[in-house]
Formats: sequence, structure tokens, C-alpha cells
Amino acid sequence: MKNFFVISGSSGSGKTTLLELLSRDLNMDISVSCTTRKKRKYEIDGVHYLFISKEQFQDMVDQEKFLEYENVHGDLYGTPLDSLKGYIEKDNSLFLELDVKGALSLKRIYPSNTISIFLSPPNLEELRTRLVNRSTESADEIEKRLSRFGEEDNLKKEFDYTLINDNFETTFEKIKKMIISFTKKD
Ligand code: 5GP
Repeated sequence: MKNFFVISGSSGSGKTTLLELLSRDLNMDISVSCTTRKKRKYEIDGVHYLFISKEQFQDMVDQEKFLEYENVHGDLYGTPLDSLKGYIEKDNSLFLELDVKGALSLKRIYPSNTISIFLSPPNLEELRTRLVNRSTESADEIEKRLSRFGEEDNLKKEFDYTLINDNFETTFEKIKKMIISFTKKD
């Protein structure tokens, strides 16, 4: 088994775009989570998430099919054990994008193979602007996401690395360098 690179941060911190580009650049997959959240227009079922009903999610919880799961902003999100097993068996590294609690759970389960990265927006106002500009959430949903900022920010000290995403290219290069340095150690 190689490494799990888990990236967390407030909604709007830029982690999804960063991970998509890093995944392409480094030829490393991103774990696909299950969620009960509604699909956004541009999202593809099975690529961005496996979109399932609350009942299906609960069945998977009952059957212990998640490595970890959390309720984030009122929706359920979980990392399916089956998909991780494949990477562990093939000795491949993997990116995961999880909320702060999920990332810390993963670190507890695989302490020596998990590298946790927390990505902060420059400040709360910038976060609000990014969420409003991306137009994927309603005003209510934006407020819900912003209200988690303090809690998320408090947990950042538990992460292996914390970065402020104030310049996309710089952040991209920093994370890429760090991942390459870990890959070389293997
Ligand atoms: P979004 O709705 O913006 O796609 O995701 C909301 C939050 O859920 C993000 O912080 C994202 O990283 C997190 N998330 C996505 N998948 C999982 C998962 O499988 N487990 C946990 N704990 N969080 C997840």
C-alpha cells in the first residue's frame, strides 16, 4: 500500500479544482465517494460522486461498507471501503477529498500512509465571494457552508500540512512538489 493524500478545507477553498488538475498531472486517481446530496449540473454520476438515496446510504452504513462517513451541511458523504481496497491491493496511491472530520478519521485508520493537507481560503470574505461566484448553491446553502468555517479552521492544526490558497498556481506547485517527494520515498 502506498499513500493516501487527503485534502480538506472549507467549501470554496478551491480543493476540487486543485485535485482534478493534480490528478491529471500526476496520473493519480481521486477516490469517488457516495453522497445523498443532489447532483450539480456539471457533475457526472460515478465520476464526481456516486449519487445515492438516503435509504441506499443507510443500507451501506448497516452493512459496514464505509471506511468513514459524515453528515456535512445536512447531506451524507461516505468513503466506500471497496474502492479503497483496490488501491491498497494494487499498491497504488490515491487522492481523497474529505471534510475535516473524515480526513482525520482516515489518518487515524491509516496513520503511516495518510498525508493530510488542509487548504484555507485567504479569509472568510474571499470564501463568500468564491461561493457566490460559482453559483452552485442557494443563498441558504452558502450560509450553511460558511457557518462551518470556524469549526473547520479550528481543526486545521491536526493536519500534516496547511496551505492558504491565495494563488492557485503557487498552491498547485507546492502540493505537487510535496507529493512527488513522498512518492520518491516509497
Ligand atoms: P460538496 O457538496 O461541496 O461536494 O462536498 C461537501 C463536503 O463533503 C466537502 O468538504 C467534501 O470534501 C466532503 N466530502 C466529500 N466526500 C466525502 C466523504 O466521502 N467523506 C467525508 N467525510 N467527507 C466528504
